[in-house]
Amino acid sequence: MNTSNSIALFERANKSIPGGVNSPVRAFKSVGGTPLFITHAKGAYLYDADGNQYIDYINSWGPMILGHAYEPVVKAIQEKAALSTSFGAPTELEIEMAELIKSMAPNVDLIRMVNSGTEACMSAIRLARGYTGRNKFIKFEGCYHGHADSFLVKAGSGVATFNIQTVPGVTSGVSHDTLTCAFNDIQAVETLVQQNPGEIAAIIIEPVAGNMGCIPPQPGFLQALRSLCDKEGIVLIFDEVMTGFRLASGGAQQYLGVDADLVTYGKIIGAGMPVGAFGGKKEIMEHIAPLGNVYQAGTLSGNPLAMIAGYTLLQELKQSPAIYESIEKKSAYLHQGLEKVLKASGIPYIINRVGSMISVHFSEKPVNNFADAAAANNTLFNKYFHYMLSQGIYLPPSAFETWFISNAVSDADLDKTIAATESFLKQAV
Ligand code: PMP
Repeated sequence: MNTSNSIALFERANKSIPGGVNSPVRAFKSVGGTPLFITHAKGAYLYDADGNQYIDYINSWGPMILGHAYEPVVKAIQEKAALSTSFGAPTELEIEMAELIKSMAPNVDLIRMVNSGTEACMSAIRLARGYTGRNKFIKFEGCYHGHADSFLVKAGSGVATFNIQTVPGVTSGVSHDTLTCAFNDIQAVETLVQQNPGEIAAIIIEPVAGNMGCIPPQPGFLQALRSLCDKEGIVLIFDEVMTGFRLASGGAQQYLGVDADLVTYGKIIGAGMPVGAFGGKKEIMEHIAPLGNVYQAGTLSGNPLAMIAGYTLLQELKQSPAIYESIEKKSAYLHQGLEKVLKASGIPYIINRVGSMISVHFSEKPVNNFADAAAANNTLFNKYFHYMLSQGIYLPPSAFETWFISNAVSDADLDKTIAATESFLKQAV
């Protein structure tokens, strides 16, 4: 496969952009090689600067659930753009967006738009602290909630991929208030709560983790967190930046049947435009300015192009429950196909899948937390990634990321992915 144009672009990018990229995981640093520079995408396929086509299992890290350049979304953005790209003043569309999200997501009485998942999570934590008057919060090792200072403690995604133990620039004063424990370990959470009586404002969690590969919650784990939070007056925050509107129209709350107090969204609610949101119970949300004194703001928040893109996509998802059945069918098909070829290869593996989030961990034992994910044969994953890329299949460039399946992918694409995995495994043993 010729990637000479991408190689030249990467060299050029490195002269003006740190590491040649605007977000670290894109640099392919841990898997090696040169990142591909993308020119455009349509449906299930990405096209690079050398004209190569790839089946996309990243889908902009989630939002392209109906495929790239989805026509109703493109058209809606084009029409809106002609009416100006920003006002910094309220619009009716923002109300329609809030009403739509409320009609789809459980436990969202009030919702505030922001511009990224980071902003959403950072603001939700500030709100939980302001509401409870407590300083500390609990997050889970390997979960990623964006790059705000307080989240960069034992974080997943790029922080795990690059094995960054301590992030320079994050003060010990800030990280002191971030407590961490292993995903799926309710006893560890209970111990932390007991050791910090009356001090924990919030527990924030990816209800299905996607930033250490895909890791589902063990049965009862989220329910136990819910009970603990109720007992201790702790705000339970579900970070649904990946799971929201993907696992079900009501996100992980609906899919897993557990209620959160606050929920954060990102990516998908802008159909790939820069958007995030945090919402939840009225009693908590009404502490946000200008109703309350927990300050949070954004010049471009509720931006009309972002709103119309997200609104168009979410409405499509709301109106067609069959989309979720279709994606589930495709995801189960891929899961079964991968399972078959992996089993036949004799190479130890674990496939974790929840709906259209799926990961292959080259692990001998179940992968239930970050330590399990880190103990897997991730060198083999890196080889797998490059082999698949050479076959025109674009997986996330790290074992610490989940794959996302879109409804645009065809059976032939899935068959090609399974067959390429089989040929990789044959030459890997
Ligand atoms: N939360 C989760 C679960 C995420 O996966 C991400 C991004 N991958 C974020 C928060 C941060 O979102 P953003 O990159 O839009 O700031």
